[in-house]
Formats: sequence, structure tokens, C-alpha cells
Amino acid sequence: MSVRINNKSCNLCGICIDICPGNLLLKKEDKVVIRAPEECWDCAACVKECPTQAIELYLPSEIGGRGATLRAKKEGNERIWACKNPAGEINEYRIKIK
Ligand code: SF4
Ligand code: SF4
Repeated sequence: MSVRINNKSCNLCGICIDICPGNLLLKKEDKVVIRAPEECWDCAACVKECPTQAIELYLPSEIGGRGATLRAKKEGNERIWACKNPAGEINEYRIKIK
């Protein structure tokens, strides 16, 4: 699995680049790209911290079906994880954060 970056939503803040434990994300011209998708270990740190929800993580097919993705956003004291299945249905999971 790996991540997909929607560069139309990206503001080039660089948070994901700083936070990726594998140093896999980098700026290339005016885009953020993943340099070695096969080395991504799906930790979702970049997904969690991206302030514009520009990154989504492909989930293993056993979890959400082939092509299912995961995004995250922060609202107040909650992190909202949104899992989209291949049919486009979204299930949200709200987790309180400190
Ligand atoms: S999911 Fe983790 S390892 Fe993969 S690109 Fe994002 S921060 Fe890096
Ligand atoms: S954290 Fe999100 S908005 Fe910031 S550079 Fe990465 S993809 Fe773009």
C-alpha cells in the first residue's frame, strides 16, 4: 500500500515531508511526491498531520476492499478518520485528542 497526494489541495507546507519516518516524501517543483512507494509502511503519520487533507492512504483490500482509502482531519478536539470504500461510501470514526 502507499499514499496518494492530491497536489490541487496541497499548500506545500512541508509538514508531511518533515514527519515521514522513512523520508519518503519530497518537494519536486511545485508538488509533493513520494519517492519510493514500496517503502511506505502505511503508518498514516502524513495522512494524520496534513492540514488540507491532501493525502490519502490506500488500505489493504482485506480492510476496506480493493481501492479503499483513509483520510483524516482535525475538528476541535477530535480527529476524524474517514474510510472510503470502493463504492464511494464513507465511514467516519471520531477520536478525541488532547
Ligand atoms: S504513510 Fe508513513 S511511511 Fe508512508 S509516506 Fe506517509 S508518513 Fe511516510
Ligand atoms: S502536509 Fe499536506 S498540504 Fe502540507 S505539504 Fe504535505 S501534502 Fe501538502
